[in-house]
Amino acid sequence: MRIDRKRLEQTIEELGRVGATERGGLTRLALSDEDRRGRDLMVEWMRQAGLRVSVDQMGNIFGERPGQPGHPPVMLGSHVDSVPTGGKYDGQLGVLCALETIRTLNDHRVSTRHPVTLVIFTNEEGARFQPAMLASGVMAGKIALEDAYNARDKDGLRLVDELERIGYLGPEPCVPRPLRAYLELHIEQGPVLEEEGLAVGVVEGIVAIAWSRLTLHGVQDHAGPTPMRIRHDALVAAAEVVSGVRGIAREIGGDLVTTVGNLTVAPNIVNAIPGRVTLSIDMRDPKDATLDRALPMLDRVVRQACEREGVTYQLEHYWRVPSTPFDREVVDAVERAARAAGARHRRIRSGAGHDAQYMAAIGPAGMVFVPSRDGRSHCEEEFTPLEDIEHGANTLLGAALALAGQP
Ligand SMILES: [Zn+2]
Repeated sequence: MRIDRKRLEQTIEELGRVGATERGGLTRLALSDEDRRGRDLMVEWMRQAGLRVSVDQMGNIFGERPGQPGHPPVMLGSHVDSVPTGGKYDGQLGVLCALETIRTLNDHRVSTRHPVTLVIFTNEEGARFQPAMLASGVMAGKIALEDAYNARDKDGLRLVDELERIGYLGPEPCVPRPLRAYLELHIEQGPVLEEEGLAVGVVEGIVAIAWSRLTLHGVQDHAGPTPMRIRHDALVAAAEVVSGVRGIAREIGGDLVTTVGNLTVAPNIVNAIPGRVTLSIDMRDPKDATLDRALPMLDRVVRQACEREGVTYQLEHYWRVPSTPFDREVVDAVERAARAAGARHRRIRSGAGHDAQYMAAIGPAGMVFVPSRDGRSHCEEEFTPLEDIEHGANTLLGAALALAGQP
């Protein structure tokens, strides 16, 4: 049994037109009018495929293809929201390959012991409402429904009001449900598969993440009359921290990645010595133990940089996500399915967060990666060749069928 490549290609094109940008990308922010149109199209396709469609309190959409009574479903899904001027593969490929899997089961009149349910998660990107993966977080019981409802976008609009406005404030409780397995196909968003000429990544888990926030307090003063010897420049200390953060990854090596991605300088004018700087530090590694080693090194880097410049600081390690290993049975099922689909593949770790991370707290979860051209994503240039998508979709189909079982 194989998926219909032509049909899959058509749905990618058609959904990709909702919120399309001139340069081949997509802007479909969560709970915007474009998101509503994308959802409406998916629901139409899901109904045509004979699925029983329901919506929960967070606007997550479920489409169930029944199995035998009393068996929890195999869920296949991802998200249809995007970042501003993002691409038409991130998220929607997972949802469309799930739909194609179900259409293929229908074509071949295959019945399964466990139901196969397509799920579309609300606000995965976190581009409009923070944090990211908000709705799967609520479903997993990791984020309170009230907090999610009160999340506001930059114009002050509340998530719950926007859910209602676009008609996706559903009645079903957003709580953990019995689950045979959760499977998500997604673009890699990194260069590994493309570099190695592979079509499919069998995802073993998601990296551990640590976020820190640093505020440096120097002495704001005039850039002219203040001699160099009496300066306490918050930005000079920050610059040392930026290269020190890179140094931590160099020293520990392996798979550790470290990033300073956000920096705010005050007063940020040409003729004043910066008095205050805030910056973010993002560190990720497959192993929690590596971050346990890296965080004290960060403390040291900051302390030394500040001592040298004579500035004071506050450093908060405010968010930590442990490494999420995926379920061994699911990972093995994905690997066998990739082999059976004739897809060149390897095992891989995800460096980015996905809804599968929260779903892994509810039941057995796993992911299928397909390559990203030049490793790029969250941009209009995002692209995955159709042959690789086809291999990925056939892998998803095979793994879903193996996990759903025959009556
Ligand atoms: Zn995504």
